[in-house]
Amino acid sequence: MGGTFDPIHYGHLIGAEEARFRFRLEKVIFVPSGQPPHKKEYQVTPARHRLAMVLLATASNPYFIVSTEEIERPGPSYTIDTIRNYRARYGDSLDIYFITGADAILEISTWKENEKLVRLCRFIGITRPGYDLNQLSHRLPSSYLERIDLLEIPTIDISSTELRERVRRGEPIRYLTPDAVCDYIAKEGLYREERETEKDGQE
Ligand code: NAP
Repeated sequence: MGGTFDPIHYGHLIGAEEARFRFRLEKVIFVPSGQPPHKKEYQVTPARHRLAMVLLATASNPYFIVSTEEIERPGPSYTIDTIRNYRARYGDSLDIYFITGADAILEISTWKENEKLVRLCRFIGITRPGYDLNQLSHRLPSSYLERIDLLEIPTIDISSTELRERVRRGEPIRYLTPDAVCDYIAKEGLYREERETEKDGQE
């Protein structure tokens, strides 16, 4: 499961657990992006904080594992590099699913070596309630669509952006993310300052 996780919240956790159950996954490996390829460095909270929050949020689930590989790898965190590593480690016979937000997958044709990537793994796109499924079919060729499954998380409509804004406005985030993550954000004073959110289009 790939993401910036800035911060991780119950939408991510419910999505991961639902994907594990529906697709009979042996485990779900959370891979926080080190340097998200399409975001400027100053737009993203330092990786050590995002990693700490992912560790706190996933600790109680024995099927959840956290990988630091994208954080440790220098340069932009390209998904193709990560999936290649898993293929090298686990061989060709294992099914590998890259789980992330459906809106991120919508942009997959701009990702590095995307034609190779879609052959190396399948994708699970987590959608929010009301997601327009036509968006994907309008944007991506059928050879890509057949490698993508969508998974709607019916009851939850939370985003990291909303969490950051709530903290900045002094509003509570309890029950939107695990208590340990709320406490970490408060202790470290994260998200109190407004920051630039515009994306630079560099993938
Ligand atoms: P993003 O653009 O910040 O997020 C797009 C949408 O997807 C947001 O609504 C986001 O909600 C949601 N989302 C992101 N991760 C999710 C997850 N694990 N589960 C459910 N929803 C999720 O996306 P991002 O986090 O930076 O990137 C997503 C993944 O795609 C990362 O692993 C990133 O490395 C990869 N990626 C790779 C390339 C490349 O290889 N060139 C380019 C772009 C992205 P929240 O804000 O609430 O999470």
